[in-house]
Amino acid sequence: MRDLSGGGRLLSINTATIKQCPDLREAVAAIGRHGIAGIAPWRDQIAALGLAHSAQLIRDSGLRVTGLCRGGLFTGGGRDGLAASIDENRRALDEAKAIGAACLILVAGGLPPGSRDIEGARELARDGIGRLLEHARSVGVPLAIEPLHPMYAADRACVNTLAQANDLCEALGPGVGVAVDVYHLWWDPALEREIARAGKERILAFHMSDWLVPTTDLLLDRGMMGDGVIDIRRIRGWVEAAGFDGLCEVEIFSQNNWWRRDPTEVLETIIDRGNTVC
Ligand code: ZN
Repeated sequence: MRDLSGGGRLLSINTATIKQCPDLREAVAAIGRHGIAGIAPWRDQIAALGLAHSAQLIRDSGLRVTGLCRGGLFTGGGRDGLAASIDENRRALDEAKAIGAACLILVAGGLPPGSRDIEGARELARDGIGRLLEHARSVGVPLAIEPLHPMYAADRACVNTLAQANDLCEALGPGVGVAVDVYHLWWDPALEREIARAGKERILAFHMSDWLVPTTDLLLDRGMMGDGVIDIRRIRGWVEAAGFDGLCEVEIFSQNNWWRRDPTEVLETIIDRGNTVC
């Protein structure tokens, strides 16, 4: 297993982790200053700065882009809304290509308003990913299906386990893989097996944070690695045993704690926890 100590050379920062940085320019500067190797930006930050400027900024920084956040959300408009969501995802793929992202992160989408048909939502998500694949293959940016914890099944993602994501990958063929996020998947008794099943080819991203007890907000109360109950090192071991050799991306949404601190403190803490608990 790789040694994460010695600074940030194997780490990437999802910019949501340092949301207090007012824009992409400052986020890139802060990450670079700490010797961290990678970044995963969000589309709204890129739009705010402009795509060409963002691409130039990231290129000049030398940071590797572990993923673009995010695409997907195929289900919210029901079957009638699928074409529009696919168009939006094509634009996201073009942006991912422009910034040199290793993948486009896909969150499937939840149930359409008023629906109780989770199977129908899953079919819609599968169709959406399938119809996006041709564009993904043509621009050369793979799609990374990120299963989200089941507590998000209604409003964010009806793909909730790595087994589901692996099944989708097998059904859809080349150009689609998975993002393994410990926050979403740590509880799954099939996780070790499904990580092995995904293998090197399919594991496109590895995301880290921690599960706090108690969790006070379903979305915005993720913990710093080491502050919760996830055995991150064990899961990273499985992912690396499967062949993953990319950067480990830190993705912490923390409205009442880490977003209130100076980004320097956040990034120094991340590097420190990389040494000790990841
Ligand atoms: Zn994630």
